[in-house]
Amino acid sequence: MKLATKYIHAGAHPDPSTGAIMTPIYQTSTYVQSAPGVHKGYEYARSQNPTRFALEEAFAVIENGKFGLAFASGVAATDAVMRLLVPGDEVVAAHDMYGGSFRLFSKVHEKMGIKFIYVDTSDATNVEKAMTPATKLIWLETPTNPLMNITDIEAVSTIGKKHNCMVCVDNTFASPYLQNPLDFGATIVMHSATKYLGGHSDVIQGCLVMNDQALRDQLYFIQKSTGAVPGPQDCFLVLRGIKTLHVRMQRHCENGEKVANYLRQHPKVGKVYWCGFTDHHNHAIAKKQMRGFGGMMSFVLKDDSVAAATKVLSSTKVFSLAESLGGVESLINHPASMTHASIPREQRIANGLSDGLIRLSVGIEDADDLIADLAQAIG
Ligand SMILES: *Cc1c(COP(=O)(O)O)cnc(C)c1O
Repeated sequence: MKLATKYIHAGAHPDPSTGAIMTPIYQTSTYVQSAPGVHKGYEYARSQNPTRFALEEAFAVIENGKFGLAFASGVAATDAVMRLLVPGDEVVAAHDMYGGSFRLFSKVHEKMGIKFIYVDTSDATNVEKAMTPATKLIWLETPTNPLMNITDIEAVSTIGKKHNCMVCVDNTFASPYLQNPLDFGATIVMHSATKYLGGHSDVIQGCLVMNDQALRDQLYFIQKSTGAVPGPQDCFLVLRGIKTLHVRMQRHCENGEKVANYLRQHPKVGKVYWCGFTDHHNHAIAKKQMRGFGGMMSFVLKDDSVAAATKVLSSTKVFSLAESLGGVESLINHPASMTHASIPREQRIANGLSDGLIRLSVGIEDADDLIADLAQAIG
């Protein structure tokens, strides 16, 4: 089945009691039993909810996996993966990644005895070098937030298999429309469904997708035991968002390409970070594992100062200054003070994330209006 058809029908079954085409929002905490232990498969909504189950089925379908699990946020999904580990285990993680993932690893899980080794995963040999007998998980993000670095999922998954180690890919930036990490050998795919899957900036949610039944059972156990489940209304919103993922992503890609090319020729703009440029250092890998290059990009002005960046960030009228990404509306963001403020400055600069870097989430408005807005803001 082609993507467009898959996305519209993923997890959708007519409601058994009424035939409703849309999955109802089962706003209930518990289910009546006819005798002790005699029920319809639903006991208590932290463990089972029909709206959530429909969405979890949809997650599996759109990521070409067998099982999906929904969480109250992207970081709750990441946290569930970390709870598979025990003190003494090591994680090899991308050195350039979402600030909230870094905060969760360094401030919460390090205290629990998990060791994190950060490497530049855009060169897979760095991952191989960091592996030890204690490495149980490789954590990847590709493209990365905000520098759009690309990691070869297939190469790293091969390293993971060789060392009997799981590979989890944060696929938030690409979305399943552009990239399916399980197809390249990853063990788990994670999404902040808050972003492209929801797509309308109206929900916080996360998900995991995997193929292995035993791994799914362990993660389901963690999901119900720690309780970071999304409510049924949020599940409904993401189910609805997924139905238009393909048309939204097509426009994000078209607009992203136009805006990236515009910025690149602007005399006041310095480096533009977008993985669709043929001279992006890992463009060949991006082309191998992605169907398009999306609407996420970053850039610096030639005057790479906070003051010059602040002027642009405060002057756009169509792009709204806000954290988050992946919604229909365009957003502009200052990683150093907003999304990536939790990463120590020294480490941030060493990773190539300068104080003046500006990140764009190019939405699905008219591209001419987006370019005109950036033109007046950059001046
Ligand atoms: C937003 C985001 C997260 C965290 O997801 P939440 O839904 O905000 O908890 C993780 N990874 C990436 C790449 C993100 O953009």
